[in-house]
Amino acid sequence: MSNVRTEDDRRTAITDRLGRPLRDLRVSLTDECNFRCTYCMPEELYGEGYPFLNPASLLTFEEIGNVVRQLATLGVEKVKITGGEPLLRPGVHNLVSDLLSIPGIRDVGLITNGFHLAGVAERLRDAGLSRVTVSLDSIVPETFDRIVGRGGGLERVVSGLRRARQVGFDPVKVNMVVQRGVNDGEILEMAQFARDEGLELRFIEYMDVGRRNEYHDSLLVPSAEIRDAIDARDPIRAVDPQYYGEVADTYEYLDGAGRIGFISSMTQPFCGTCTRLRLSADGKLYRCLFSGIGLDVRNILRDDVAERDDRLNAAVRRFWGIREDRYSELRGSDRDAAAGSRRHERVEMYRMGG
Ligand code: SAM
Ligand code: SF4
Ligand code: SF4
Repeated sequence: MSNVRTEDDRRTAITDRLGRPLRDLRVSLTDECNFRCTYCMPEELYGEGYPFLNPASLLTFEEIGNVVRQLATLGVEKVKITGGEPLLRPGVHNLVSDLLSIPGIRDVGLITNGFHLAGVAERLRDAGLSRVTVSLDSIVPETFDRIVGRGGGLERVVSGLRRARQVGFDPVKVNMVVQRGVNDGEILEMAQFARDEGLELRFIEYMDVGRRNEYHDSLLVPSAEIRDAIDARDPIRAVDPQYYGEVADTYEYLDGAGRIGFISSMTQPFCGTCTRLRLSADGKLYRCLFSGIGLDVRNILRDDVAERDDRLNAAVRRFWGIREDRYSELRGSDRDAAAGSRRHERVEMYRMGG
C-alpha cells in the first residue's frame, strides 16, 4: 500500500483556532509502568494494588489503527508510541507495521524507559520503526535507582540503548529530565556518555504536568544553564530546525562528534507551533498535555461499525477546530489564566501519553 498522501487527503487537513495544523499523534498503549519515576508516578501514590486501567478498556491495536487511519486523512503524518511503558504491551512491532501501512503515515517512533528494549529492538527495526527514544536520567546507579524507584535496572536500560544502536537505529535519542539537586550534577557526565555511545542526548526541563508529582520551581534547571555548562567544556553551535513544530532546539559539537538537544517547555514554550494530539490507552483524545477533558473515541469505535469512520472524522474535526490550548505560554505571561487552569482537573502524563 502506498504511503503517499493523495490530493484528496491533503484537502482535508485541519487547523485549530490559532491556525495550528494537526500533524502529530502520541499513542499511549498502557497506563502501567514497571518504574516509578518520582516526577511521573511516585511510589507513595502508585503502590501495589493501584487501580490501573482494566485490560478490557484498553484500545486494541486494530482500534488504534482505525483512529490513526482517520487522523491521517486530517493531517497526521507522524505517530509516537508511548505510555506508561509501551513495551509492557506484547507485539508492539505488529502495531508499528500496521501504522506504517496507513496512507499518509510516514514516521512511527517509540519512547520507552528501555528496560525491555534489548529483546525487541531487532523486531521493531524489521517492522520499520523510524526512531527510538529512551528515557534515562542518570548513569550513576544510585541516582538512577532513586529516580526510577521500583523496578530499577540501569544495566538493562544501557543494554537496550546499545542494542538499539547495534541493530541500526540512528540516531538513538536519550531523554534526560533534569532536576536541581537530584541529577543536575551529572549533566557533563551524561553528555560524555552520550558522545561515547553515539547517542543524541536531549535535556528536558522538569514540567509541572499533572497533579501528582511534587513539581516545584526550585527543581527546574533552565536549558540555557545546561547549554552554557556544556558549551564551556565542549563548544556547540545551534542547528536549524529540521521541520515545523520541532520541540527540541538542536546543537552540534564543533568537533563534529555528535548532537545534543534541549526541550525547554518551561522557559521557552512552543505552543505556537504545537501540532500534537494525544490518544490515551483507553481511547480519549487530548489536545494539550495540560488538558483535563478528553474526547472519548472508544465509544465511537465500539459502536456501529457502518458509521464509525464518518463519526470519528467529524468528531475530531470539531474537537481540533475549536482548540485554543496554550498552557505553557499562559503559564509565563498570563498568571491568572494559568492559575485558573491549574485549579482544574488535569490528566496525568503517564495516562494521556507522555
Ligand atoms: N515510559 C516511557 C518513558 O519513560 O520513556 C514513556 C512514557 S513517559 C511519560 C514519556 C516521557 O515523559 C519520558 O521521557 C519522561 O521522562 C517524561 N516525563 C514524565 N513526567 C515528566 C515531567 N514531570 N516533566 C518532564 N518530563 C516528564
Ligand atoms: Fe514509567 Fe516513563 Fe513515567 Fe518513568 S516516566 S514512571 S518510566 S511512564
Ligand atoms: Fe502543546 Fe499544550 Fe504543551 Fe502548549 S502546553 S506545547 S499547547 S501540549
